[in-house]
Amino acid sequence: AGNWKMNLTFQEADELLGTIIDNIESDGIPESVDVVVCPPSLYLELATDLSEGKSLKVGAQNVSEHEKGAYTGELAAAMLQSVDVDYCIIGHSERRQYFYETDDSLASKVLQLLKYDITPIFCCGELLPEREENKYMDVVSKQLENGLFHLPEKEFSKVVIAYEPVWAIGTGKTASPEQAQEMHAFIRALIGRKYSSDAATHCRILYGGSCNAKNARELFSMNDVDGGLIGGASLQAQDFLTIIRSA
Ligand code: PEP
Repeated sequence: AGNWKMNLTFQEADELLGTIIDNIESDGIPESVDVVVCPPSLYLELATDLSEGKSLKVGAQNVSEHEKGAYTGELAAAMLQSVDVDYCIIGHSERRQYFYETDDSLASKVLQLLKYDITPIFCCGELLPEREENKYMDVVSKQLENGLFHLPEKEFSKVVIAYEPVWAIGTGKTASPEQAQEMHAFIRALIGRKYSSDAATHCRILYGGSCNAKNARELFSMNDVDGGLIGGASLQAQDFLTIIRSA
C-alpha cells in the first residue's frame, strides 16, 4: 500500500495513477497480492474512477470518528464509501503526533470504517527512545489493545495492521528484517492470545518505514511480514512497481 501523504498536484496524481495502473495491468499481479494507493482525499474519486475494473484498490489517509454533521474539514466513512474507497489508513504516527489522535479516537474510527465496509489499515509503532529503552513491545501492545482489540473476532478479521517504527518513517533508516520480523511475530502472538490462532494466521501485517525498491524483497521474505506500507517510494512509479513485484 502506498501512502502519498500531502504530496502531488492533481495532474501529477493523474499521471502517477495512470502509470501504476498500466503497469500492473500489463505485468499482471498474483491473485494473492493486493495493491492499494492512498492519495490525498481530494484525488480519491479520480483514483477510484481510474482504477474501476483494474487490479488497483484505493485507500484514504484518514477518516472522521463521527458519523456526520458539524465537523468542518472532516470526511465521514459514509462519504469514502460513496466514492468506492476500499481501505483507510488509521493512526499513522504523523496523525498521532501532529493531530493529537488518541487510541480512543482511533477505536471509534475503526468502528466507523467497518460499518461502511472499508478496510482499516491500522498503524502502530514505537518512538526511538521507546525502542532504546526496550519498551517497544509494550508500546505496540497498548496501541493494539486500546485501538483494535475492542473488536469482536469477526470484525477484527477484516483489519490490516501496519507496524511502522516511528524512527524509520521518512528517515531512510529502515528496521532490519530481523527487527521487523521480531515485532510482527510478537503482534501475531498477541492476536493469537486475544482471538484465535486462525485470526493470528490470517491477519495481514505490513511493515512501514523507509521500505524501498532495494530493501523490500528482503523485508517481505520474513515469515511474518505480509507486505508494506510505503511512503516516499510510493511517489516514484518505478520504485513502487518494483516494490509490488517484490511482494
Ligand atoms: C509512511 O509514512 O507510512 C512511511 C512508511 O513512510 P516512508 O516509507 O517514507 O518511511
